[in-house]
Amino acid sequence: MKAVCWHGANDVRVDTVPDPKILNPRDAIVKITSTAICGSDLHIYNGYIPTMQKGDILGHEFMGEIVELGSNVKHVKVGDRVVVPFTISCGNCFFCNRDLWSLCDNSNPNAWMVEKQMGYSPSGLFGYSHLFGGYAGGQAEYARVPFADVGLFKIPDGLTDEQVLFLTDIFPTGYMAAENCNIKTGDIVAVWGCGPVGQFAIKSAYLLGAERVIAIDRILERLQMAKEYGKAEILNYEEVDVGEALKEMTGGRGPDACIDAVGMEAHGTDLMSFYDQAKQAVRLETDRPTALRQVIVSCSKGGHVSIPGVYGGFIDKVPMGAAMNKGLTFKMGQTHVHKYLKPLLEHIQNGEIDPTFIISHRLPIEEAPHGYEIFKHKKDNCTKVVLKP
Ligand code: NAD
Ligand code: ZN
Repeated sequence: MKAVCWHGANDVRVDTVPDPKILNPRDAIVKITSTAICGSDLHIYNGYIPTMQKGDILGHEFMGEIVELGSNVKHVKVGDRVVVPFTISCGNCFFCNRDLWSLCDNSNPNAWMVEKQMGYSPSGLFGYSHLFGGYAGGQAEYARVPFADVGLFKIPDGLTDEQVLFLTDIFPTGYMAAENCNIKTGDIVAVWGCGPVGQFAIKSAYLLGAERVIAIDRILERLQMAKEYGKAEILNYEEVDVGEALKEMTGGRGPDACIDAVGMEAHGTDLMSFYDQAKQAVRLETDRPTALRQVIVSCSKGGHVSIPGVYGGFIDKVPMGAAMNKGLTFKMGQTHVHKYLKPLLEHIQNGEIDPTFIISHRLPIEEAPHGYEIFKHKKDNCTKVVLKP
């Protein structure tokens, strides 16, 4: 089959590789009909996620049709049209039972690697390095899905791939980011990053009752999308002092909640961001927390800080004093996708949200290398690439 494979930093290729096989009685093989490139893939593309190996198949946002099942799968059948959550969960462990699906205790066979750095391992992830299980991803013609009964989510007739594809990740991720803000009526929420995750966080903040949402980025078409589609007020961080602007826009109090939808590869214009770039370049710091610092300092006293943006390792000069003394609440994590599939599908069916707004490019899978380049550099007004195997 054809698959998008990692060969090193800034080097992905469409290779011909062996088809996946059922390895476990609870597996399914899915023939992929649509798959997307995510901001999380860019951390791998840029070479910041350790334990990638040449030839690893990328991709964690995918859907398709079940073509084969292991002998112990009971609740889905061959021919079902399904979306696949990017987190792999067993459905039976302590954490899955508490709706903490991205923390599943049984899906990362390489847990020992993560435990060295993090103490305990989160769940396995599709197409996301050997640290997170070494699972082949879904930017391919076929994928093996473990725990098929738990992960595969059947899509009712009458919905297109593009309407439901983002249930695999970015819609639940934006939604959980907003939920983690503990929004109360009248709240003002500020969102750093107007990529796909930021856009869904903006929409979700309103769905959850925010009065105003303020979106921050520097890419003009993404700010424009946040304004037009998301109904957010916008700030270009290259043009204004974000902290000062937010103070002014919130009557001197600061946003009640701040979302970091940027993560470990933030850009910046201040001195600290050059410090991060220099330290990251010589591998003395793994991540660049430019947006996170602003989030913490800008947030209102007693406010909520929500971090969907991915961090991989260690960050410097985090204003912990501000966080502690202002009494901030922090919530973060890889998304518990399984928990959100059904309620968010209902929002799509009710017409409360049409996730297709985010798609700027539809490409055949052969053009994945081009897709990665334009999505990384935000060229050609690229906001989200859908690949068709
Ligand atoms: P993206 O790269 O398309 O978007 C990031 C946006 O942040 C860009 O528009 C960029 O211009 C902007 N940005 C950079 N520095 C900034 C700064 N200092 N202030 C404000 N904006 C800034 O990526 P995406 O797909 O939207 O993903 C965003 C983040 O969410 C990534 O870190 C990704 O890994 C993460 N993510 C997390 C989960 C999860 O489960 N928690 C799931 C999916 C994605
Ligand atoms: Zn993703």
